[in-house]
Amino acid sequence: MSRVAIIGAAGRMGRELCRAVLEDGDVELVGGTVEPGAPELGADLGELCGWGKAEVFATEEPPGDAEVHIEFTSPEATVEHLSYEKPVVIGTTGFSDEHRSKLEEAAKSVPIMLAPNMSVGVNVLREVVSEVSRKLGASYDIEVVEAHHRHKKDAPSGTALFLGRAAAEGRNLDFDDVAVYGREGVSPRSGGEIGVHALRGGAVVGEHRVIFYSEGEEVEVVHRALSRRTFADGAVRAAKFVSSASPGLYSMGDVLDG
Ligand code: NAD
Repeated sequence: MSRVAIIGAAGRMGRELCRAVLEDGDVELVGGTVEPGAPELGADLGELCGWGKAEVFATEEPPGDAEVHIEFTSPEATVEHLSYEKPVVIGTTGFSDEHRSKLEEAAKSVPIMLAPNMSVGVNVLREVVSEVSRKLGASYDIEVVEAHHRHKKDAPSGTALFLGRAAAEGRNLDFDDVAVYGREGVSPRSGGEIGVHALRGGAVVGEHRVIFYSEGEEVEVVHRALSRRTFADGAVRAAKFVSSASPGLYSMGDVLDG
C-alpha cells in the first residue's frame, strides 16, 4: 500500500485527489500540503474533501513518510517542490521551457510522471487524433478548440497543446512551427497551420475538440470531462505506477501501457 501526500490539497483538484486516495484500497493518504498561511492549514483532509474525518491534517510541508507525492498546483510551486526529491505525479499545467528543463533534470534522480490530462479517455484519444490526422492527409485543415471554467489560469490548456502535437505528429510536422493561437484582424488561413482556440466560462470541467475540415466534410474528435474525479482517478493510478518506477520522466501513456 503506497503512502501518498497531496501537494496543493486545498485546490479544486487537491480536494478531489484527497477523496480519490481515501476511497482507493491500494493507497493510503498520509498528508496534504497547503500554501503557507492558507486558511485550510491544520484542517482534516477528509473533512476538507467532504469524505468525513480522516485524522490526516493539512500542513505546509509534506510528511517525511510519504512515498509518493501528487501535485496539482502552479508551475512555479511545482518546480520549487522538486527539492522534495520524491517520486511524484504532476498534473500542473502551463510550464515554460525553463520549467520543463528543471523537470527533466530532476527526473534523472527520481521518477516523475507528468501529464497535462490524467483522464484515460484523453490519452487514448491522443493516438486517435494522430492516426486520423495521418490518414486524412495534409489537405484537411485542423483546428483545436478547448473550453474550461472561468478560473483556469493558463490558455490554451495543456491538453489542447497535447492534442495539437498529436495532430502535427500524424503529419510529421513540428507543432511549434504550425500552431496559430486565436485569430484577429486580417488573418487568412495558411495550408499547414493548426489553429488553437480557448473558451473560458462558467464551471466547464474541460472540453476538447479536434476538427478536421475539407471542402466536402468535417471530422470531429471530442472529449468532455464530466467531473474532476476522472483526472483524480488517473493520478492515483499513476501514483501506483511511479511508486515502483526507476528515475525518469514518464507520460500517462507509460502508465496505461505499464
Ligand atoms: P486551484 O487554483 O483550485 O488549486 C491550486 C492549489 O494549489 C490552490 O489551492 C493553491 O493554494 C495551491 N498551491 C499553490 N502553491 C502552493 C504551494 N507552494 N504549496 C501548497 N499548495 C499550493 O487549481 P486547480 O483547478 O486545482 O488546478 C491546479 C492545476 O492542475 C492547474 O495547473 C490545472 O491546469 C491543472 N489541472 C490538471 C489536470 C490534469 O489532468 N493534469 C486536470 C485539472 C487541472
